[in-house]
Amino acid sequence: TLIIASCSNKILKLPVASSKENIFDTKVDSVLQLMTLDEKVGQLNQYNGFWDITGPTPKEGQAAKKYEDLKKGLVGSMLNVKGVKDVKALQKIAVEQTRLGIPLLFGFDVIHGYKTISPIPLAEAASWDLEAIKKSAAMAAEEAAAVGLNWTFAPMIDISRDARWGRVMEGAGEDSFLGSKIAVARVQGFQGEDLAATNTILACAKHFAGYGFAEAGRDYNTVDVSENVLQNTIFPPFKAVVDAGVRTFMNSFNELNGIPATGNAYLQREVLKRDWNFDGFVVSDWGSINEMIPHGYAKDSKHAAEIAINAGSDMDMESSAYVEHLVALVKEGKVKESIIDNAARRILKVKFELGLFDDPYKYCDENRELATVGKLEFQEEVLDMAKKSIVLLKNEKELLPLKKSGQKIALIGALANDKTSPLGSWRIAADDNSAVSVLEGLQKYSGNQLTYTKGAEVTEGRTQFIWETKINTTDKSGFAEAIAVAKQADVVVMVLGEHGLQSGEGRSRTDIGLPGVQQELLEAIYKVNPNVVLVLNNGRPLAIPWADENIPAIVEGWHLGTQSGNAIAQVLYGDYNPSGKLPMTFPRNVGQVPIYYNYKNTGRPVMNEPESVFWSHYIDEENTPLYPFGHGLSYSKFEYSNLQLSSNAFAKNGKIEVSVNIKNIGKVAGKEVVQLYIRDLIGSVTRPVKELKGFEMIELQPNETKKVVFTIDEKTIEYFTANRKWEAETGDFKVFLGGSSVTKLEGDFQYSN
Ligand code: BGC
Repeated sequence: TLIIASCSNKILKLPVASSKENIFDTKVDSVLQLMTLDEKVGQLNQYNGFWDITGPTPKEGQAAKKYEDLKKGLVGSMLNVKGVKDVKALQKIAVEQTRLGIPLLFGFDVIHGYKTISPIPLAEAASWDLEAIKKSAAMAAEEAAAVGLNWTFAPMIDISRDARWGRVMEGAGEDSFLGSKIAVARVQGFQGEDLAATNTILACAKHFAGYGFAEAGRDYNTVDVSENVLQNTIFPPFKAVVDAGVRTFMNSFNELNGIPATGNAYLQREVLKRDWNFDGFVVSDWGSINEMIPHGYAKDSKHAAEIAINAGSDMDMESSAYVEHLVALVKEGKVKESIIDNAARRILKVKFELGLFDDPYKYCDENRELATVGKLEFQEEVLDMAKKSIVLLKNEKELLPLKKSGQKIALIGALANDKTSPLGSWRIAADDNSAVSVLEGLQKYSGNQLTYTKGAEVTEGRTQFIWETKINTTDKSGFAEAIAVAKQADVVVMVLGEHGLQSGEGRSRTDIGLPGVQQELLEAIYKVNPNVVLVLNNGRPLAIPWADENIPAIVEGWHLGTQSGNAIAQVLYGDYNPSGKLPMTFPRNVGQVPIYYNYKNTGRPVMNEPESVFWSHYIDEENTPLYPFGHGLSYSKFEYSNLQLSSNAFAKNGKIEVSVNIKNIGKVAGKEVVQLYIRDLIGSVTRPVKELKGFEMIELQPNETKKVVFTIDEKTIEYFTANRKWEAETGDFKVFLGGSSVTKLEGDFQYSN
């Protein structure tokens, strides 16, 4: 006999069902033998838990039904239950009142922190600092695990090239190389080295797949992409996290090339589970199984359940389609019982890996909860991450850093005094007003005379739709006072951008300029005092060409979380030298979207005759972005020189090294992200004009020079070719090195086999 678990006396000791290599597989087989079909289906069912389970037992409606199902062992997981008290109460029902006592998984959207809020993921991506990002995820995991949770629905690793899509705030931007590295860092941070530890939680790679390519940037919209884009751009981060051991996947609301992702057997069965060997489980997105009905792919919920389970969606998030229909579908022969077994097996295995069968209450320690949530070290960590996420977009007239004293500063903009908006879009557990505002930050870090006035609100305080979409204000009554204050100041700091709820899920925009009357306010202030430092707070790239042309200093301050104001103040005062680089292209005009650095040439790429109308261009806008991918300045200045290749050719199994010298010719120490791009000149499938293939962050004292070396081998140049597989093709390549995707240094090499 094998001790399976100690949480339920029903499954304490069981005969060993098989002797598989993996002890968890053996245990799972043993438990499966005991389960009825209903119980197996129960494991596949996840309910939302937004009801007070510790209060009076719900007597009617949906909540009562869920409660009854829970007692019958028909629930495998719950989401949106938070706090040790509630988690424990529900776990107790699962463990003590169901026939087999199988513990529940508790999932939650810990996207950029639980209660202590980190910068939004897009901002963190701008740090290009994988260690810091990993640490940030680990911190979030520790805090979440302390409130009873064992599973986060993060990271979102959807690549997107469309700033209209509000969920770009939740990803790592437009590039699949950077995106893959960051995805792995986040998974490692959440899951840690030991899944069974009480400070780590399951990660969930989402949304599989294509969600970031919604047509016209409208959330949930149709996705129709080529195999080339799917393989070379969308898949790589997902493949990378499978290789890194992510335990769960979430599928997606969108259809992909005509088939909803939730019912997509190609994605889930062929690519993920067969080709990539993923042995964790896939959860549907919220209600996405039933969404296949309006998609026009399933005729009713029962049909949707049949399609989803057969396509490899293992767990049903809040559709109730599985729990209502799967048993009947098996009996009718429409779903094989082995398919149910396989899904249940994947879920049970993860529960064993977490150690839940040994101690279902392992995440339910009130003392740990008290000692962990919001603890001081977390504040330091999120401050550090916030500083690393800031990108200096422009700095002329030496406006920045601000002087520490003797400057009269006017602070203008509603976001400057907002303690909620910096928390960004996903902050279900964080309190309103729990962020440090820019006003508070500036007051803390200087003795300057500081006058604050709002100028104008961003939004009206009124909201639209169920999910709080803020409505832009048209009220300009505060302009006069702001103009008066600006006139008196040496420097005007304006904090403008998006309210924290103007990006995120369901918040697509067709105008990605400054919302409301902020553009007018900016122009009005600039007219009376051109010494403006513009600090942006936003969840997506903004198209702000006027600001770029006129405003001397622009700082990208995103939605930086709990410590936002302190981080921004430290950067403005030069206590921290900014080093962030954009993970996503900023367009000049929304009409350029999708715009991204690794585009392909057309047959009419360059304007060799300036007057010609026959090259690929707009008649009313430039082709180039406002700020390119990888762009970001520093208070130091870096000079790149001496690009060298160890050889100009390499062959199969070989490699070459490419090196470059970087010198800090500025006056202060600083950090620089050195970026390596390559171009494959001729391919069996046309290739992008350049692709990021390496990066390294270095720190340089004034006058110091460092040499950075990158290795290029077959892996570097592989892509999904016309042979429909990943391989390196022989031919000529270019290599580019610099501090952004617009680089000056280039070299050439050849690959042959
Ligand atoms: C989102 C998911 C999220 C889920 C649960 C859905 O609307 O698309 O990313 O994890 O809700 O909150």
